[in-house]
Amino acid sequence: MLKKIDHIGIAVRSIAEARKFYEDGLGLRCERIEEVASQQVRTAFFTLGETHIELLEPMSPESPIAVFLDKRGEGIHHIAYLSDDLEQQLQQVREQGCRLINETPVAGAGNKKIAFVHPKSTHGVLTELCEPEK
Ligand code: ZN
Repeated sequence: MLKKIDHIGIAVRSIAEARKFYEDGLGLRCERIEEVASQQVRTAFFTLGETHIELLEPMSPESPIAVFLDKRGEGIHHIAYLSDDLEQQLQQVREQGCRLINETPVAGAGNKKIAFVHPKSTHGVLTELCEPEK
């Protein structure tokens, strides 16, 4: 079952540049910066209530975020839903005929396992399902 929107991922060219708006403009605090080697992405997490903003900066030109920036420019990259049972949730979307980017969960930032559902199956929004590692 889904519990809440965990975070909104925003693709940026530079975290150093983008964090100024979130910190000085919105007054949010950057909780941590974390690199996810498997995705070649650097992430910065800001917390607001129960939800986070995740800034995503490419660490290499091969990063999926670099590809996204080239095609679409900076902006909302994905919405992440927190599940209490990621495997079950994946099975449910699979049964609905949705195209999964990750057939099985992979390691994400913040000690979570994550899986992405293709935007072609979600009316245009890259959708992340995540569950804290136990
Ligand atoms: Zn995410």
